[in-house]
Amino acid sequence: MQQLSGSAKENKITSKLQKRRGLLSKVGEIRVLVVSRDSSSFAQDGPDVEAADSPVLGASFPFPVPCAPKKDKKLLIRSHGGRVQASVLENGILVEHYSSGITDTSVGNIYAGKVSGILPGIESAFINLGEEKAGILRLPPQNKKGAPRLRYGDPVLVQVTKDPRGHKGASLSSKISLSGRFMVLMPSSSTVGASSKLEGRERARLRKALNEILPKGEGAIARTAAAGCSKEALENDYEALEKCWRDIEMRYSRLASSGRYPALLKSDSDLALKLTRDVFNDSFSALQVQGREFEKVKAYVGEMNPELLDRVKRWDPSLEEEDIFDHYGIDEQLDQGLERTVELPNGGTLVIDKTEALTAIDVNSAKFSSRSGEMENTATKCNIEAAKEIGRQLRLRDIGGMVIVDFINMHLESDRQLVLSALQKAMEGDRSKHAIEGMTSLGLVEITRKKLGQGLVESFSRECENCHGRGLIISHEPAKATGPKDRPSPQV
Ligand SMILES: [Zn+2]
Repeated sequence: MQQLSGSAKENKITSKLQKRRGLLSKVGEIRVLVVSRDSSSFAQDGPDVEAADSPVLGASFPFPVPCAPKKDKKLLIRSHGGRVQASVLENGILVEHYSSGITDTSVGNIYAGKVSGILPGIESAFINLGEEKAGILRLPPQNKKGAPRLRYGDPVLVQVTKDPRGHKGASLSSKISLSGRFMVLMPSSSTVGASSKLEGRERARLRKALNEILPKGEGAIARTAAAGCSKEALENDYEALEKCWRDIEMRYSRLASSGRYPALLKSDSDLALKLTRDVFNDSFSALQVQGREFEKVKAYVGEMNPELLDRVKRWDPSLEEEDIFDHYGIDEQLDQGLERTVELPNGGTLVIDKTEALTAIDVNSAKFSSRSGEMENTATKCNIEAAKEIGRQLRLRDIGGMVIVDFINMHLESDRQLVLSALQKAMEGDRSKHAIEGMTSLGLVEITRKKLGQGLVESFSRECENCHGRGLIISHEPAKATGPKDRPSPQV
């Protein structure tokens, strides 16, 4: 929004309200401009292909956009004070951050669970995992032939597909999948496929290779990282996963027959290895590791991607004379990712607010300076800068669900298209599933995005006990009646 004063400000507020109301009442007809979605990332060629893009299995976008300048991507891993932290940098700018212990997800964990309740009405069962909350397993329709009937107390082999959130327990599946470097093995499915992010001919090659490698009755999806990999590399990956699966099965049946369940059978808790497996690929110029994780990471890359081994480097703080995070300014960039307001290069700002239903991002031109001096031009330029930063902030903060961006009003349709395509481009490197809807005539854009982890702000903060996150102190007297001295200092 432009900077306004006096009565103009009131008009502004009214028009904002109308805008928001308009969004709610006119859903459907307001999508004036629609960004063409990248159809390939939504294409599905089997029921399980989506799994190849899910958080545990997600692989990064492998194909650079033809007109985009080549990005220098680095993965940094630091073990420090008993905690592992990892950052993805693009041209020196922090775009993703992970921290062991706080951003841990239970997605992918495999348990020998215990049925602790059956809800026939919604065809689900509560499964005790030995964790704080019971998980929820969707059951196949009970009348379906061959569907195993679960009874209270039964053991069941399950995998977490969604982290517990709020009062809801983790979502579980009884179809286990195991992620390797190049494939996701699905021992109880017969689907063979390849990530929809791969190019057509490569997908066909990989599918053929998988069909030759896999025994009948086992399924697998080639991951994006498999692009260009040899059949031998696929075979090695399969063998490692198969061994892991046999080990899980054996331990499960041992625990189930002796009644020693619930128990955790497998967890993807090694952050350094998990990120090396899921994120590091040919598009990265370096993987720099400070601390004891180095040997492990190096051995893993040496085994799985020997051609990338020369990009794996140890960072020795005593030789480099500084900590790797200090060198790249990670802490400052992280602090920025926790602020409500984000400054844009030319004086504009983003204000990011999370509500129960959605995250609202307000674009302000504030002191935005543009040499041309024309209002329309200024609005568009500021919006384009905002769009670029929004792409980065969504990834860095790992914001999920619905996001509504309130751009500065622009009158020309061509300008709106410019802003939308800048936003689309900014989100291209995001390995999380996302979609950008069109822009309304009043400049609102709706984005949906799937969270990869717990979220940066959620990881590094907790709700204020005094106001439960609302940021207000409620009084039974009108606020003016209390002098500033009597009022407790606001705690937000
Ligand atoms: Zn508070």
